[in-house]
Amino acid sequence: MSVYSHVLTQDGIIPKESLLYPFEERGLQFGDGVYEVIRIYQGSFDLLEEHIDRLYRSADAIRLKVPFIKTELIAALQKLTATNDVRTDAKLYLQITRGSATREHSFPDVPSNFYAYIEPSNRPVSSLQHGVRAILADDIRWDLCYIKSLNLLPNILAKQTAKEKGAYEAILHKQDTVTEGSSSNVFMIKDDILYTHPATVNILHGCVRARVLELAQQAGLQVKETAFRVENLLQADEVFITSTTSEIMPIIEIDAKQVGNGKPGSITRILQRAYEKACGIHVTAFA
Ligand code: PMP
Repeated sequence: MSVYSHVLTQDGIIPKESLLYPFEERGLQFGDGVYEVIRIYQGSFDLLEEHIDRLYRSADAIRLKVPFIKTELIAALQKLTATNDVRTDAKLYLQITRGSATREHSFPDVPSNFYAYIEPSNRPVSSLQHGVRAILADDIRWDLCYIKSLNLLPNILAKQTAKEKGAYEAILHKQDTVTEGSSSNVFMIKDDILYTHPATVNILHGCVRARVLELAQQAGLQVKETAFRVENLLQADEVFITSTTSEIMPIIEIDAKQVGNGKPGSITRILQRAYEKACGIHVTAFA
């Protein structure tokens, strides 16, 4: 499944073959930029405004100019799905960098670079049904994890270790406090209470995380945005991670230790069903 034919740049929609960057590009040389990944279900964006709001927050935090005003950007992204005639489940990737200039750490006086492309992306239905395994890893990242920065080395290394151990995700902890996953937020349920790390500088404020908190409250669940420790996680009744592409993904094993009875839990199932409804997507038969 390859990328759709047309991409959006700061200069408009162009064929993807025309998107070329000079080697002196701040994203390539410094990771000096921010990005977003946005879900598309059956050709329509999900949580679009939420992602765009976060993009502006990330860009502001690194003093980077987004080369569109918000309404223009939303309209341009809608036009991109129309130009590509996207009708399937897909995802949009977009990034903004501090432009192309002679390599020097301080900011150059050049325009930012922007691009967005769409690629087909199926929902991970089988994993959503059966659950997946996770490992624990040290959170060795910096102090501003709420910024969706292109600098992803610690996340990549943690995810690779997870993959090599046959796991889907690495759950990160700073000292003993569980922060989030390498590319997801982490929730646990203990005695019918839903816990997740508060939206501080130490985690990315996930768009799915926010939706899940709303859905949990609507379902009458008690919710605590309170940091918890690795030992609490390992004694949880249910654990799941959330992200744009993984949705609400049950974790059934952490470092080879079974979570609960080793099957996706009943509260996780309630939230998965509510999530599908909120996205307006067809309901998967969650066993
Ligand atoms: N934390 C990290 C580190 C991530 O990379 C992601 C995925 N973007 C998330 C959390 C989940 O965010 P979202 O729900 O907005 O996809």
